[in-house]
Amino acid sequence: MTNKIFWKDPYLTQLETHVTSVKENDITVEQTIFFAFSGGQESDDGTIGNNRVLQARKEGKEIVYTLEKGHGFKPGEQVRMKIDWERRYKLMRLHFAAEIVLELVNQNLGSIKKIGAHIAQDKARIDFEWSENISKVLPIIQKKALEMVEANQEIISAFSDEETEERYWEIIGFARVPCGGTHLRRTNEIGEIELKRKNPGKGKERIEIMVSENFI
Ligand SMILES: [Zn+2]
Repeated sequence: MTNKIFWKDPYLTQLETHVTSVKENDITVEQTIFFAFSGGQESDDGTIGNNRVLQARKEGKEIVYTLEKGHGFKPGEQVRMKIDWERRYKLMRLHFAAEIVLELVNQNLGSIKKIGAHIAQDKARIDFEWSENISKVLPIIQKKALEMVEANQEIISAFSDEETEERYWEIIGFARVPCGGTHLRRTNEIGEIELKRKNPGKGKERIEIMVSENFI
């Protein structure tokens, strides 16, 4: 099973590792910094050797990387893995903005139910089952989220169960939430947060989250 370095050090952009299995265009590696889509956070972009990774997918605790045809890798071979850091850092900032917004929504509207979330490079969104218009609470959520950014809180990320790879993030005095994504070290890395309400269908509310480069 691949050792997921993106949890121990989500800021690492290059890594020397070894190929552990090859099945046509699919390979696995000993250690990885290349995140595979899960919990709504999109996969990284990047390369293994000189080959672009076309797809990264989780198979149980393993991560399988699909490369272009003709990569020529053999098990045991040493390879250099690189990720697109600009993309990953934007994903991490939007991911944590979404974490804070979701927690604040839960704290402010206790009975609301999250029904989906997606974190892309340009924006994140969270969908809720909610019969009211969520725009009423958005100004207070945005204000409190910006206070969290300004307070530059430390974000702890750790295993709750290493065997089953269950992880959480925690901001002392705010929340502890289960999540297997890649998290920032401190809240001021998020930058300015902007929220928009969308109505994706009857009884559903969506919050769109954008972060700007204006670091506070
Ligand atoms: Zn998370």
